[in-house]
Amino acid sequence: MRIANLSGRLVLVTGENTAVDVERASGGVFSADPQAVYGRWREFRAWASGAALPEGEVFAAADLGAPAPAPRQVLAVGLNYRDHAAESGFAVPEGLPPVFTKFVTSLTGPVTTVALPAGGNTDWEVELVAVIGTEAYRVTEEAAWSHVAGLTVGQDLSERVGQLAGPAPQFSLGKSHPGFAPTGPWLVTPDEFDDPDDLELGCAINGEEVQKGRTRDLVFSLPVLISRLSAVLPLLPGDLLFTGTPAGVGLGRTPQRWLAPGDELVSYVGGIGELRQTFTGGAR
Ligand code: ZN
Repeated sequence: MRIANLSGRLVLVTGENTAVDVERASGGVFSADPQAVYGRWREFRAWASGAALPEGEVFAAADLGAPAPAPRQVLAVGLNYRDHAAESGFAVPEGLPPVFTKFVTSLTGPVTTVALPAGGNTDWEVELVAVIGTEAYRVTEEAAWSHVAGLTVGQDLSERVGQLAGPAPQFSLGKSHPGFAPTGPWLVTPDEFDDPDDLELGCAINGEEVQKGRTRDLVFSLPVLISRLSAVLPLLPGDLLFTGTPAGVGLGRTPQRWLAPGDELVSYVGGIGELRQTFTGGAR
């Protein structure tokens, strides 16, 4: 099953570019609010699997918003691929990876224009993002997938000057400028994948591939992340978990490379879809 946020309304995606409005199709049983569905996830899945749906209506990708636009918590994991930890000059973490947040004001849908912060060095990080479906607190690795509503594509856009300045790194602020957390194009439930623990992901700038990896190479797999993070705090329905990025970011290149006005960044995860960001100058 695929669900999306189409112009602020929850829809079931029924084809490559067709969707059914959930509030109308359910006769008002489920709200149009794309975030509210995660609070009733099991009930919604049961309805969606049995519902007789009308024919889908055609939509444009540019009208899609974030599949989970107002999470209570966004957890993002750093240094979760060995080759990316190495290019960043850090040791591979043990026990718990570094965790930061992307503040919710940075969240957007899949097709956007992003203003590059003045005086900054803005970098790309394609990531698999999980959306929590049912509260996960102190769950085992074996039970972890049952708490996941689905998967989506994310970009952990990162302004490196602000992120790495000062006596201690400012991961959360450097990664939370407006538009720095595009997600989408929709949420795909785990049962749709042959192996949800082994998905290809990558991104390209102006058609030139800069990152390509597989989620089987995560240092902490999604079930391990959910188990270890939920040992500390409850993960709530509708929360986002950015799982980390593979090698190929601009920070790790010689010479280093940053996003520039006019660049187009296309990011994908196999079996889900793609994000498309265009960059402009001008943000102060
Ligand atoms: Zn990241």
